[in-house]
Amino acid sequence: MAFTLPDLPYAHDALAAGGMSKETLEFHHDKHHKAYVDKLNELVAGTEWEGKSVEDIVTGTYEKGAVAQSGIFNNASQHWNHSQFWEMMGPNPGAMPEKLEKAITDSFGSVDEFKKKFSEAGAGQFGSGWAWLVQNKDGSLEVTKTENGVNPLVNGQTALLGCDVWEHSYYIDFRNARPKYLENFLNKLVNWENVASRMA
Ligand code: FE
Repeated sequence: MAFTLPDLPYAHDALAAGGMSKETLEFHHDKHHKAYVDKLNELVAGTEWEGKSVEDIVTGTYEKGAVAQSGIFNNASQHWNHSQFWEMMGPNPGAMPEKLEKAITDSFGSVDEFKKKFSEAGAGQFGSGWAWLVQNKDGSLEVTKTENGVNPLVNGQTALLGCDVWEHSYYIDFRNARPKYLENFLNKLVNWENVASRMA
């Protein structure tokens, strides 16, 4: 079955008060994410990957250490990344669930220290990519960054939180100020209930 663009879990203007405009979501979800889905369907047609899950395609086509990944990998991973990203945000961020706060404090010393590390990872990613809070197989939490569409699935890690640091994610609302976009994301847009629900 062909891949389809998932609906946003909220209205296009639902995150505007939190600093992500309707215009950003119209471009980012309706155009950029849709383009990844369309291209992925085009590229897998007639190949061994047709009919496979997006996770299987991501882990099966990743070339460790390669200078550049294939078109199938890039479009599959970006489809997966964006599908998670929409779910990881919400119009009512709410408080951080206790088990998540405890795990973050255990791993980073404090929530503020975690936010600092995450922001540094996102701001320090040279060019396009993602900042992540991941859970390792041993249960420990870690902040990572990846280039382009690469994601924690390829390292066998669980993505708890991801932030898109491609320019298309922040240029309309924050222009070139990626650090401000990251700070706003962490303080006004993250759906912490969703992040906590991903923990093993
Ligand atoms: Fe994006």
